[in-house]
Amino acid sequence: MIRKIKGTQDILPNEIEKWHEIEETMRNVAKIFNFSEIRTPIFEASELFHRSVGETTDIVKKETYDFKDRGSRMNTLRPEGTAGVVRSVIENKLYTDPNLPLKLYYYGPMFRYERPQKGRQRQFHQFGAEIIGSNSSLVDAEVINFAATYLKALKINDINIRVNSLGDRESKDRYQLALNEYLEPNIHNLCEDCNRRYKENPLRVLDCKVDKDSETLKNAPKPLDYLSDNAKVHFDQVIMALDQIGLNYTIDKNLVRGLDYYTHTVFEIDSDLETLGAQSTLVGGGRYNNLYQSLEGPDLPAIGFAFGVERLLLALEAINQEEVKPQIHCYFINLGDVFENESLKIINQLRRGGLIVDYDYFNKSLKAQFKQADRMNPRFYLIYGDEEAKKGVVNVKPTNSKDQVEVRIEDLYQYLINQLTQNTGCSSCEGCSGCH
Ligand code: AMP
Repeated sequence: MIRKIKGTQDILPNEIEKWHEIEETMRNVAKIFNFSEIRTPIFEASELFHRSVGETTDIVKKETYDFKDRGSRMNTLRPEGTAGVVRSVIENKLYTDPNLPLKLYYYGPMFRYERPQKGRQRQFHQFGAEIIGSNSSLVDAEVINFAATYLKALKINDINIRVNSLGDRESKDRYQLALNEYLEPNIHNLCEDCNRRYKENPLRVLDCKVDKDSETLKNAPKPLDYLSDNAKVHFDQVIMALDQIGLNYTIDKNLVRGLDYYTHTVFEIDSDLETLGAQSTLVGGGRYNNLYQSLEGPDLPAIGFAFGVERLLLALEAINQEEVKPQIHCYFINLGDVFENESLKIINQLRRGGLIVDYDYFNKSLKAQFKQADRMNPRFYLIYGDEEAKKGVVNVKPTNSKDQVEVRIEDLYQYLINQLTQNTGCSSCEGCSGCH
């Protein structure tokens, strides 16, 4: 039997409601913050990721899915979303929009050849957002607030927002010098990966998960102490804006984030919820003011974040204990000949009006149809046999009472709508969930 590839996952029908909740909430919150969706290809020229994410990052060095296409071009399955968005904004000249900054969000699968474990897969999903074309510190706060508001909307309240600043290029250069000087005599105390990173990109040593509690890393110089005056003003304003918004955050001087392109503000939100296990970071992001230029685009400062959707699902496991059983509006029980009577027509009319209706395809017995109906959890049984067909009526039986009413076929849709909206005050039943 052919099995799914290691590190990938089927999302089965009994799990899909949670995914829909995450996706719907994402779109609603994006709308509130006035972001538009962008969809970019799942594979891109490999060079895009080498030049943006960074040659020395673990993602590009060890984790990309690369393949040569039939024209001998090197392609890569996207390991993250920002690079594709940047490429698309440049290629489609979206930056000429008079209404800058662009506020974009994306959602979809990403691919990294990692060691699979709980909350870490080879195909996983990210929901990300980017604000492109503004240097304002308000934009940094806006993006952090967007991420926090999304978590609140999902009722994930047990969160820690950590922020830090790497500063502008000048600050980053000064800091790297200081870090190099400090690390040179101490690097032998750190792990093998740190020794490699130290040579390639010393900043990334701070990001090490293995040595994060070692004295060597604890005592290392911190980016925040090397900020230029401009970078300091920028970060102070971000903090003031977060205070104004009323978000709880901590300044984490060790936070650097793994990718090369970050400048100024970086942030992560994690949660102590048990279901997350070791992978407690729900979202990470930061400013990347030089990426557009380094990909031959215009000088466009930008900032973004990316949520790991599978981790959100793990977090939701901890807080949404009670399962909501999906419900349909009506189960149509047909006791006559489906090819002779009007049952298909009636069902279709109800569906065209937005009601969720299902029925039996197998000419089952009355008892079997009731059994099948109950598995679908309908609000009404609609019973239609030869008697009803002759009279031009349907017997409507609510599943929560013993009453049964005979309703004329031409009045059936309106009757059901009235019944369904009676207790909810919901005035439109175009398939909305108000009546559930
Ligand atoms: P990154 O692009 O590495 O900054 O990751 C952003 C977010 O994506 C992380 O905080 C995780 O929630 C999620 N993420 C990253 N890698 C994986 C993975 N291999 N499996 C599941 N989620 C991931």
